[in-house]
Amino acid sequence: MTSKLPLFLNGEFVKSKSKKTLEVTNPLSQEVLCQVPCATKEEIDQAVLSACDAFLTWKEIPPPERARLMMTYHALLKEHQEELAEILSKENGKTFEDAKGDVWRGIEVVEQAANIPSLLMGETLENVARGIDSYSYVQPLGVCAGITPFNFPAMIPLWMFPMAIACGNTFLLKPSEQDPMTPNRLAELFVEAGAPKGVLQVIHGTKQQVDDILTHPDIKTISFVGSVPVGQYIYKTGTENLKRVQAFAGAKNHMVIMPDADKQRTVENLVGASVGAAGQRCMAISVAIFVGKSKEWIQDVKQEMEKVKPGPWDSPESGYGPLISKTAKERVLSLIETGKSEAMCLLDGSNCQVEGFPEGNWIGPTLFTDVPTSSTIYKTEIFGPVLLTMNVDTLDEAIRVVNLNPYGNGTSIFTGSGRAARKYRHEVEVGQVGINIPIPVPLPFFSFTGWKGSFYGDLHAYGKQAVRFYTETKTVTERWFEGGDSEGANLTIKLK
Ligand code: NAD
Repeated sequence: MTSKLPLFLNGEFVKSKSKKTLEVTNPLSQEVLCQVPCATKEEIDQAVLSACDAFLTWKEIPPPERARLMMTYHALLKEHQEELAEILSKENGKTFEDAKGDVWRGIEVVEQAANIPSLLMGETLENVARGIDSYSYVQPLGVCAGITPFNFPAMIPLWMFPMAIACGNTFLLKPSEQDPMTPNRLAELFVEAGAPKGVLQVIHGTKQQVDDILTHPDIKTISFVGSVPVGQYIYKTGTENLKRVQAFAGAKNHMVIMPDADKQRTVENLVGASVGAAGQRCMAISVAIFVGKSKEWIQDVKQEMEKVKPGPWDSPESGYGPLISKTAKERVLSLIETGKSEAMCLLDGSNCQVEGFPEGNWIGPTLFTDVPTSSTIYKTEIFGPVLLTMNVDTLDEAIRVVNLNPYGNGTSIFTGSGRAARKYRHEVEVGQVGINIPIPVPLPFFSFTGWKGSFYGDLHAYGKQAVRFYTETKTVTERWFEGGDSEGANLTIKLK
């Protein structure tokens, strides 16, 4: 009998009263790692109540003290980076190197949260009119909630709660039910760092628990990262319930390859960005557009893809790990089958086996060429190690294809020409643009800016702008009269 993962309520890990549980399985072997409870409505209410109580005292803690908590947390996360990565690899399947990167990208956000006093500073303008000065304060909102996906179980929860809490809010996290052990360990370390009771709550579950969050009257903001249909649902339901919502959704990221690019570097980068992490990255390159003569490199891409071998998380030979679940594998296999009637399948990873792991959710690198933009495989986010390619004659045509795509998370151009790079950067309608960089994920002192169907909400956030999402700006317009009754004015009179 495997253990039931606890909830984290009011500063304590407690056993859920829920009778409904789901299994968390090791994607390599299907071994059940633990049972994850689907929290009851009463437990969610209790979490929100405790977060509301904690907010009253936490918001009064000076920002430099909140920053110090983040510094301690940062040090602990660094100390436990490998341990966290091991938990993460076992429940998610990604390689140990990838898992360490997942934790590290989260640690970088905590670093930014430790810098909160300067990020929370308001604005001032003297003499907005003659003798009148104006200034603004930035104040926390209350209880914020976060709903996170399976593919970055450390980084994405860490995008959210450290920033929100450093701003003076309290936070309720609902991590993915597919790999919830890593977020629970993040919460344990937060307690060890000295986080006061109630500032962070972790509840587990699926749609019902998300609905309870979306409709809870005392939750002020929702941060979501996940797929497009769920992102749209969360945005609509959250805003209908008059909450502030930011929803980062799915993607179909294109790389444009110009004939003047460095061939070897382009091919290696393209293959790593498309099949790395089994293609389960929102910033994975899933479409390559070859411009002009660069189409001759497609055979080189195939050869490079054939060299990448999936395998277990703890082998340095593994190019990537298994897919998260049997269901995810079945879905990707079905899309590969569909693709065979829509385009040319140059490399088929459907029958992939890895020695010693017959039960793993394996799919080998898969390559389609001459993919039409009307096809299902082009229009769907596959979220597997599958690369689609197409050929066009000019950069203008490539830009048109990318801009007509409904998603706009990330894109990249490989070229030797500064002029082509500048044109692409300027004209492409996508949030993150890489120039000779395949996965242009920004660091947290910039903002993560998905465009079009990859983002719903009014603030592009997780880095710099996150502070503005988790706070309310109050503008004060001020005028002082001589002889008035405020302390400042009296003091002026006495001094006279
Ligand atoms: P998902 O949408 O299935 O699940 C995300 C979260 O929503 C989970 O916590 C889940 O429990 C919850 N959820 C699932 N179904 C729900 C429903 N019907 N109603 C309410 N809540 C529901 O996503 P996933 O499969 O865990 O993650 C992969 C997706 O996330 C991909 O589409 C990927 O592109 C996207 N993603 C986007 C970004 C980004 O920054 N834009 C980053 C990482 C992942």
